[in-house]
Amino acid sequence: MEQIHIIPEFAYDFHGHRCPYMPLGFMAGEYAMRLLGVERERDHKTFLFSEMGDEHLQGCFNDGLQAATGCTYGKQIFKLMNYGKAAAILYKPEKGAVRVIVNDDILKDLEKFKFFEYRYKGYEPSEIPLDVSNEVIDYLTSIPDEKLFRYEFLKDFTYTPLKKTSKKIECDDCHELVFENYIKIWKNKKLCTTCYEKERR
Ligand SMILES: [Zn+2]
Ligand SMILES: [Zn+2]
Repeated sequence: MEQIHIIPEFAYDFHGHRCPYMPLGFMAGEYAMRLLGVERERDHKTFLFSEMGDEHLQGCFNDGLQAATGCTYGKQIFKLMNYGKAAAILYKPEKGAVRVIVNDDILKDLEKFKFFEYRYKGYEPSEIPLDVSNEVIDYLTSIPDEKLFRYEFLKDFTYTPLKKTSKKIECDDCHELVFENYIKIWKNKKLCTTCYEKERR
């Protein structure tokens, strides 16, 4: 099989193990960037909405998406939609929005690989023999984008990020500093969430 996609080592290092869904997310992110005509985001001007959820195994997809696009959780430009779908929307206000979806036959094909036999037996990805992991990764990275994914441009998509604050206020109970929009008022006291919940018990 000829490898037509290159997944950089930094993505595996950041993710922690070798599995198929991180590379799949990486390739989906790169494809979305190419379709939209945008560069990897260095700051805060591109937004990524992953349709994956946090109650299934394949969340590794999200790390690949973030590594490719630079739209990270920490920069607050990555949102998890919790739809349980292997799909993501990339949005940049002046460029528009594109939704990239992993093709159904790819998702079904993946299940046939030995890697998932190990996973369903309870092995963690780092405990799975390297040749078993590489077999499924090599398979995926040899498939062109057009076969891995389908896409649609979302004409009316829009998103306005929440207003951010840098101002901090001291909690009247624990005296720790809290960003102001997270302060809760209770019996004339300004409280952090933890103290507020304690007081209300
Ligand atoms: Zn993984
Ligand atoms: Zn407190």
